[in-house]
Amino acid sequence: MPTATSPLSRAINAAKQAMKPQRYGVHDRVFACPLCGHDHFKLGAYQGLLGLHTLVCADCTHVEFFETRPAALEP
Ligand SMILES: [Zn+2]
Repeated sequence: MPTATSPLSRAINAAKQAMKPQRYGVHDRVFACPLCGHDHFKLGAYQGLLGLHTLVCADCTHVEFFETRPAALEP
């Protein structure tokens, strides 16, 4: 059983941190969910699907598709 400071748990925590919802920008504008207006998204699990990139709204889970990967903004 890994302890809280084991390399495995540190890697898991780093991955969780990296997958936290964050803000994304399109053409220098903060992208907001067209349904609920929330501005934090997770990069979707469908990134390989048809070569498209997805942002999943952290609030309502609406999925938005992009041909190019939207830029992550500073928190
Ligand atoms: Zn939303």
